[in-house]
Amino acid sequence: MAIDALFATPLYTARLRSGGLDDLNARLLQECSQLCADDPAGRRWSTRNYPGGYTSYGSANKMHRVSPTFAQLQELLARHVRRFVDALHIDIGRRPLEMTDCWVNIMPRGVVHGLHLHPLSTISGTYYVKTPPGCSGLKIEDPRLDRMMAAPPRRADAPRAARTWVTVPARAGRLVLFESFLRHEVPPNPSRADRVSVSFNYGWF
Ligand code: FE
Repeated sequence: MAIDALFATPLYTARLRSGGLDDLNARLLQECSQLCADDPAGRRWSTRNYPGGYTSYGSANKMHRVSPTFAQLQELLARHVRRFVDALHIDIGRRPLEMTDCWVNIMPRGVVHGLHLHPLSTISGTYYVKTPPGCSGLKIEDPRLDRMMAAPPRRADAPRAARTWVTVPARAGRLVLFESFLRHEVPPNPSRADRVSVSFNYGWF
């Protein structure tokens, strides 16, 4: 007999680079805080769409084009995205897969980012800048869930590959990449200190 794991859902996690990241993270953190202070439109957008926190998703979402620090992050992300595309066996041909959006997320205690996906994009991901001890991770949902109309729940001891939800811990200096159709959320942040990350989309179309 044979049991194959078909239609797998690859998820890429890695440290951004093997060398030190303290300097880059300190500059990113400084720019994230400064952006929040200087961006009333973003703070208004966040009040409606990201209660208690700040995101530049609705206001300053091309940070890789306006900040050399974010451009450096983009440069360091490039080889990870290439590796992930390889692992996915995606045939991108000659058309470039490019970073289209790059934005800041600051989550103080209790802030939540509800279930969502990233429409109109191909690859999405997050780089973690500051992750206080105990801060929430990234919760990812089985993309087949909406088809499982009569499926029994999985056992509590099921391996990660068989679970309906998997939470990836958020760790400063590390990144997560996934195909943009994958639904995900950040549960309420229980840590007293801010959880700070930079999210991004890559588009092919
Ligand atoms: Fe997201």
